Amino acid sequence: MTAVGDAPRTFTGWVGVTNRRITLVTESAADAEAFRAEHPDVREIDCRGRLLMPGLVNTHCHAAMTLQRSYADDISLMAWLNDYIWPFESKQTPDEVVLGLTLGVVEMLLGGITSFVDMYYFEDRCVAPVEQLGIRAVLGCNFFDSNIDEVFPQIERAVEQASAGSGRVRIAVAPHSPYTVSPENLLRGKALADRFDLPLMTHIAETRDEMRIVRERYGCTPVEHLDRLGLLDSRCIGAHCVHVTDSDIATLAARGVTVSHNPQSNMKISSGVAPVEKFRAAGAVVTLGTDGTCSNNDLDLFEELRTATFLQKSATGDPTALPACEALRMATANGARAMGYADGELGVIREGALADLIVVDLQKPHLQPIHNLVSNIVYCGKAADVDTVMVDGRILVENRRLAGVDLPALYDAVGRAVRRITTGK
Ligand SMILES: [Zn+2]
Repeated sequence: MTAVGDAPRTFTGWVGVTNRRITLVTESAADAEAFRAEHPDVREIDCRGRLLMPGLVNTHCHAAMTLQRSYADDISLMAWLNDYIWPFESKQTPDEVVLGLTLGVVEMLLGGITSFVDMYYFEDRCVAPVEQLGIRAVLGCNFFDSNIDEVFPQIERAVEQASAGSGRVRIAVAPHSPYTVSPENLLRGKALADRFDLPLMTHIAETRDEMRIVRERYGCTPVEHLDRLGLLDSRCIGAHCVHVTDSDIATLAARGVTVSHNPQSNMKISSGVAPVEKFRAAGAVVTLGTDGTCSNNDLDLFEELRTATFLQKSATGDPTALPACEALRMATANGARAMGYADGELGVIREGALADLIVVDLQKPHLQPIHNLVSNIVYCGKAADVDTVMVDGRILVENRRLAGVDLPALYDAVGRAVRRITTGK
């Protein structure tokens, strides 16, 4: 059995899990034998020829948007939003949002994502389904000026539900962005987040249009605007952060904001290239996200690993930019930190850490030979290579099968929902 830790380091040995946590990490056969003797009922999984590694953490996602996957592509951003995305969303029922979320979570779990940070509507309706599916999540309740008074009671309900649950689901306050939410409502969001001790997440500096609008309205950059309002701190997750000045980068790093880098989404909707190498040099915590399936169009974080590295190398003209091991850290240990877990508590293989683990089948032509395991995972790995997934010590996926979900029935229900939304029938 081989593991990748936050270093990342690989080794051959044994990993033991009891209850929700990793309680054994050893290269000693005698230690493994002692663990077996101590836990006679333990179920053993032979991972020879496979890689055991921390589950991946997707720090920016709109899971329910799977219903709009490939619904509107290759058109301008404003036409995309005005003519397709927003009309579609206005017709969705809460049950249909839950259906889209379920499809997204199933896709993520089967692809080795054990934790995700979501940002969407009706998140209070999503707490129970997410608990049921077994994944770990931060559910961000998205609001604009137009729906803030509807969303705030949903946040309170979601907090109540999550605090009565397993602890795997946390809630966040998620104003859409500095250009779609007024300063007054951003401050109301921050006050609510502080009242319930919740993280706050928002899209920051995603497009050139956003830069222009914020400069026209407030005479500064989106980062400066949010900083003046006091929204930037270590509980804040900023998605994208593409159009940032050197001073913005220093501010985000100094405030401890987690940056969620979404390379494929940024490429697909021509947002630009986030200066990941500058963020890393400034000491900012950078993580990886897929964004929604409208701008991606899948939820495969292995692809984001590869794309993130290639994009930095391409944009900087420097082949040493964003090495594979650093990209992997972004998608594991850094992601766990963005979700509010202490260093060493999640996203690593270490005794005491929460047992969110995946097994990757290395017996694939594109994963052989193995000169460098980390390079093979980052540059060659695919979601479909994941065969086993454990979250919180529970095996959810085994032999590429997700327990407890009837996939044909789910696809059928999704097909019916999108037909109703798009045709009214
Ligand atoms: Zn987004």
